[in-house]
Amino acid sequence: MRVGEKGEFGLIADLRRWLDPEAGGMIRGAGDDAAVFEARGGRRFAYTADAMVEGVHFDPAYTPWHALGYKALAVNLSDLAAMGGGGPSYALVVLGLREDIEVEALEEVYRGMRDCGAGFSCAVVGGDIVASPERMFISVSLVGALAGDGFLARDGARPGQAVAVTGTLGDSILGLKELMSGKGNDTHCARRHLYPEPRMREGRAALEAGASAAIDVSDGLLRDLGHICDESGVGARVLVEDIPISAEARRVARDMGLDPVEAAVAGGEDYELVVVADGEVMGRLAATCALSVIGEIVPGEGVELVDRGGRRVTVGGSGYEHFKETGG
Ligand SMILES: [Mg+2]
Repeated sequence: MRVGEKGEFGLIADLRRWLDPEAGGMIRGAGDDAAVFEARGGRRFAYTADAMVEGVHFDPAYTPWHALGYKALAVNLSDLAAMGGGGPSYALVVLGLREDIEVEALEEVYRGMRDCGAGFSCAVVGGDIVASPERMFISVSLVGALAGDGFLARDGARPGQAVAVTGTLGDSILGLKELMSGKGNDTHCARRHLYPEPRMREGRAALEAGASAAIDVSDGLLRDLGHICDESGVGARVLVEDIPISAEARRVARDMGLDPVEAAVAGGEDYELVVVADGEVMGRLAATCALSVIGEIVPGEGVELVDRGGRRVTVGGSGYEHFKETGG
């Protein structure tokens, strides 16, 4: 069977059996935002990697080089945030380069990574450069110190708990549509697409408040909350009216004839955090972080969208999956 028939998530499920989650010091292997291992002396670290490929994750025609560097690091830091990590972190960068790329462009990529890392105690410390004749790529791996014993996993959600999300959803995909239609890179939504803000402070606060599970929104709310449901063996019910959507996203969606709710639940790349916690924990957390409660964990499986009248809501797509033409 070819990769294209299998799809990203089927492939991950298949390849997981070749991994070694019992390796010495491993606390958490595949199936979360980052792997967690314990070093001698009891210090715990989260380890993650993410790549961006030309023509798949970015198009140089509308992605400033500085933004490419910033985002390549930001999406990795977002995975640390989703584990509740907040300590210093160190990044290795692998650049796959076409011969015709300008050296000055790469300096901008590195300036972007430095500008991102500076805000989150993250240092780029090394890496590798390889030839990639057809398409450029940038791959970042990151190791970060966890604050203490705990971390926010995907498998901690229990029925009755509240589901919340930081910030707003849908801006990124709508910003991408704006970029693709030549509206420039300085609109609210385009900036959100190009310069996602890792929710490091919120992840740390969620861990300290006693939250049970978290994930960052990379593939879209439905898919990413779906990962929490799968790993936890539960379902989730989300109230569409409570999903936070910015006024700018609503305006862009209206102007382009798109559905802002579909953008919010299936768009992806918002790099907000989905947090699951007991009601009183969520109450404490909401006092210190900008987050919106959007639903609850229920027995069963999968994510169900409902409106205030209790009616089931369906939207066109369910989120992004590599190797698949449309979400399943
Ligand atoms: Mg993630």
